[in-house]
Amino acid sequence: MNEKINLFDLDRPAMEAFFAAQKQPSYRARQLLQWVHQYGVTDFNVMSNLSKELRQKLSDIAECRLLTPAMDKVSSDGTRKWLLRLQDGNCIETVYIPEKNRGTLCVSSQVGCMLNCTFCSTATQGFSKNLSVGEIIGQVFFAVRALSASNGHHDKAITNVVMMGMGEPLLNFDNVVSAMSLMMDDLAYGLAKRRVTLSTSGVVPQMYRLAEVSDAALAVSLHAPNDELRNQLVPINKKYPLSELIAACKSHFSPESKRKVTFEYVMLKDVNDSPQLAKQLVRLLEGVPAKLNLIPFNPFPKTQYQCSDEDTIQRFKEIVMRSGIQTTVRKTRGEDIDGACGQLVGDFNDKTRRKERFLREKIVVNRDV
Ligand code: SAH
Repeated sequence: MNEKINLFDLDRPAMEAFFAAQKQPSYRARQLLQWVHQYGVTDFNVMSNLSKELRQKLSDIAECRLLTPAMDKVSSDGTRKWLLRLQDGNCIETVYIPEKNRGTLCVSSQVGCMLNCTFCSTATQGFSKNLSVGEIIGQVFFAVRALSASNGHHDKAITNVVMMGMGEPLLNFDNVVSAMSLMMDDLAYGLAKRRVTLSTSGVVPQMYRLAEVSDAALAVSLHAPNDELRNQLVPINKKYPLSELIAACKSHFSPESKRKVTFEYVMLKDVNDSPQLAKQLVRLLEGVPAKLNLIPFNPFPKTQYQCSDEDTIQRFKEIVMRSGIQTTVRKTRGEDIDGACGQLVGDFNDKTRRKERFLREKIVVNRDV
């Protein structure tokens, strides 16, 4: 049993409480955050502005638990995917997507996922556990160092973080909010609030809580403009239907902030991509401060879906654009390394045994055809 405190688990208030309990002044918390997150130093002996006695004390009671790479793949388009091993042996995936003027890190919030969105490969893997704060921020810590080691970009390589890796971040609320606060903390990663995005499938009560405690940007995985279709694609819709989801989106940012919710819509051939549905989507989003992001479906083994044709995606985009909603089509990145949206799977002990069921059901289906 490891009894030491993992300093990666502590956001600024928690770090201050930790040092207060050690009868240390609160500036120690700031020093520690900077050593760890800004200078990448996890060895207390190197922390030269701490007394020898304090360094010894810290070595006795605390540590920085690192994630270790189990796999590191680079795509032909520069996208990079790591399979990172947690200390408990589970593995999660983290993806870095370089673009001309920015670099986005796609971070996981859970080992697997409890929701069962039919077009997502993480769903086929089942669920194991929530990530700790340290395991979430540890992905950022790891990526900053790995990128600067390989291209000398230092910490400027990552300009944006999206909580769009494995898992449903709002079902791991406290740890995700704490980790995002470190991403935005000037003593840690110092990212602007618009550059840290939480993406949710629509856990409505937690969306209200999020609006109260975090400044992060919000993305909502919509994928369908009516309940009947959304119930099929994103089953959590049966619990929190569109009327409730849209109401939560409308109230998320104050009107003065002029901030918008990004709606994600995966383009599934002959499922959700018709012009009629585009028009229905426009009506649904009326009065919502919204941007729309169309995501070409990324296939994975044994999926029942195909990606919409390019023309169909364009037509869908034009219909929505005409209503005045800013609409972009997400470029698929890292497909050749299975690093694209919905392709993250990790490697872990599935407590729900969903993976087993998925494979069994698919084999039966295949025998029928
Ligand atoms: N659970 C959160 C975070 C995951 S984000 C959420 O649902 O928002 C990952 C994004 O990729 C979501 O918008 C998800 O719906 C989308 N996605 C999942 N599988 C996909 C696939 N196979 N192709 C394209 N996008 C996919």
